[in-house]
Amino acid sequence: MAIWSRRWRRPDRPVGGSGKQTVRILPVSLLRTIAVLLLFTTSARADPVLDILAHVYPQHLAGHDAAALIWKDGTRMPVDDGLGPKSFDQLLQTPDIRDQFAITYRLGSVFETPAINQDPGRIRNEAFFLKMYGDCRNGDVTGHLKAVPWPIGNSVLMTEINGVADALAAVSRELATLPADMTKFLAPTGGTYACRNIAGTDRLSLHAFGAAIDINPRFGDYWRWQRFAEGELVWRNRIPLRIVDLFERHGFIWGGKWYHFDTLHFEYRPELIALSELDQLHK
Ligand SMILES: [Zn+2]
Repeated sequence: MAIWSRRWRRPDRPVGGSGKQTVRILPVSLLRTIAVLLLFTTSARADPVLDILAHVYPQHLAGHDAAALIWKDGTRMPVDDGLGPKSFDQLLQTPDIRDQFAITYRLGSVFETPAINQDPGRIRNEAFFLKMYGDCRNGDVTGHLKAVPWPIGNSVLMTEINGVADALAAVSRELATLPADMTKFLAPTGGTYACRNIAGTDRLSLHAFGAAIDINPRFGDYWRWQRFAEGELVWRNRIPLRIVDLFERHGFIWGGKWYHFDTLHFEYRPELIALSELDQLHK
């Protein structure tokens, strides 16, 4: 079944990319600012998805035109592969840049149990992430890892690219203000950087880019564990949503909002958070 029917109107000129930009962290206040800017300053010909990508990844993207993302090194990356509507499996296996936005991520603590295959964020164009973060199989990622202090005296390694490590450090500082009984959900972690594929697939995990963290697996629920254990997939979660809110505020989406749930898992996807903010402003 094709589930991608929403298409944004496209601009007729390159946008974004105004010289030197060093956005290190994109807290939700900034994401909201981006959303407001896009809402009130873009013309009827704007292309919110591509505008957002250019705004949240200024370290890499100079802007876009109607057909391609334009990278700062001059690379043009087509945003649409022209293959038309895709099945859910095709979206996972061979998404183009636009397909990544096929399922809207919903911000906040109030959300419905995800319907079948509602997995916002699991659709990832691998070429896009490889170009930003490097290929761990070639040793490109480890040189960018930075230690981030984590509750109860640990530290974890995240990529400094796109300000991900700084964003996680901001999450960590806010997590430290939560009641002490929350700490058990956070540490020991299930890991951050790992050069590996997503379990059961040949696609790289966001962990392979140093841009994801699994909090304490003891309190996590993962669809593959449950399916193998019980045969049927029933969404469940034991992670307090206060923790989820803090991550979302700093650009991380939560795997607990997926039908194929992974409630340990948070990954840095500010483009999905900014688009969600923009959707809320439109309502
Ligand atoms: Zn994970």
